[in-house]
Amino acid sequence: MKYVSTRGQSEPLDFTDAGLGGLATDGGLLVPDSLPDLSGELDRLAELSYADLAFELFLRFTDIPEADLRGLVDRAYSTFRHPDTAPTVPLGDRFVLELFHGPTLAFKDMAMQFLAQFFEYALEARDERLNILGSTSGDTGSAAIHGVRGKSRINIFMMHPEGRTSPVQALQMTSVLDSNVFNLAVDGTFDDCQRIMKTLFADVPFKREYQLGAVNSVNWVRVMAQIVYYLYSGLRTLRAEDASAVQFSVPTGNFGNILAGFYASQMGLPVSRLILATNENDILARFIQTGVYEQGQVAHTISPSMDIQVASNFERFLYALLASDPAATREAMGTFGQSGRMDLQTCGAHPALKLFAARQIDTERTLATIREADARHGMLLDPHTAVGVAAGDDLRLSGDPLVCLATAHPAKFTDAIVQAVGREPHHPVLDALADAETRCERMANDVDAVRNYIKQTLSSS
Ligand SMILES: *Cc1c(COP(=O)(O)O)cnc(C)c1O
Repeated sequence: MKYVSTRGQSEPLDFTDAGLGGLATDGGLLVPDSLPDLSGELDRLAELSYADLAFELFLRFTDIPEADLRGLVDRAYSTFRHPDTAPTVPLGDRFVLELFHGPTLAFKDMAMQFLAQFFEYALEARDERLNILGSTSGDTGSAAIHGVRGKSRINIFMMHPEGRTSPVQALQMTSVLDSNVFNLAVDGTFDDCQRIMKTLFADVPFKREYQLGAVNSVNWVRVMAQIVYYLYSGLRTLRAEDASAVQFSVPTGNFGNILAGFYASQMGLPVSRLILATNENDILARFIQTGVYEQGQVAHTISPSMDIQVASNFERFLYALLASDPAATREAMGTFGQSGRMDLQTCGAHPALKLFAARQIDTERTLATIREADARHGMLLDPHTAVGVAAGDDLRLSGDPLVCLATAHPAKFTDAIVQAVGREPHHPVLDALADAETRCERMANDVDAVRNYIKQTLSSS
């Protein structure tokens, strides 16, 4: 299988180049040139364990020899704390797919654990090294650090804004003491961290000399790894409920998670509806509702991992809506780049769009949903998950089972839970952080300070 750019102006790449590089050179996103058709194999796939299913799926997308791939998959999913890796549990008349049993208790682990294994393997094969530079306001940085900790060919430099992430999120990063992990607490905002990162990535000689790379949400390997849990939960739910199709409700920010669900449906999983749930940052919900994709202001909410302005994975979906036409995708993205708006109402008839329904859920409703799930079913939902459950209740089709994706453990978002139900949620892993030893470098809000720190660290190792 080859990977092509959504804008059609760079050479097709094989899996390893696509996964290591992350981005197409023409500014587009990499997509597989075809999707495998699993529709004739669903009964067999429904029998597989999570890791076996991941192995079967990745075999169709990668060029990694079978025995090696087996090892990567087994190591990636052995870090999960639940024997089912991602269990599907009932919540009243819906189901909840728990994606928070990985090391950092949020769904980013589902992909990051495999991505890190793949990086180390591909670097070994090429005898190369990688120094990851990232900036985070929370979940992604932590999942990346826990993915690559202890990997011999990788260092990670992760910036976070000092004092502006939740205390638990900061501790999840700074308590990782492996010698290849460098946490940088920048005296500034998340936007300052982003700006420093972009400036350093634009410094091409520096980037090349120090083998800098990223683990961004548009990396194909992450999307691919997320397809597994739609198949895993979908096939099991179909069988258990004796249903002919399943629906998913997905709390959405950068469109990475729900995009994987879209691909699963295109590969033959019977999905009758994909419900896209947003908080007040509703650019994607508005797009599904009106066909107009238009940038707004970022609002800060109690589901911060969905506080986005533009959705980095959206272009892959756009490409599918435009019948895989790179010239049309280029034109639409160009228009959006210039005006912050694109109008795709002509796509309304495209079958792919009919699969989707969307709803924005405000803070009050999110809190009420947490309260209700607790009172009626004894289950605590994290605020992101609650957004998805509320939208699912509003938009589900009658008949087919509804699976709501649970993207984080509630104990990661204490303040919102206390606000909703008046008591603190706990998880032993997070409780243990209170006494953990930490390591973190305080950094001035300055590009040169960060550049020098990276240079000195890498020169002395
Ligand atoms: C990242 C994240 C999301 C949003 O996922 P996208 O792939 O960006 O749509 C939702 N919930 C949690 C807890 C997250 O960490």
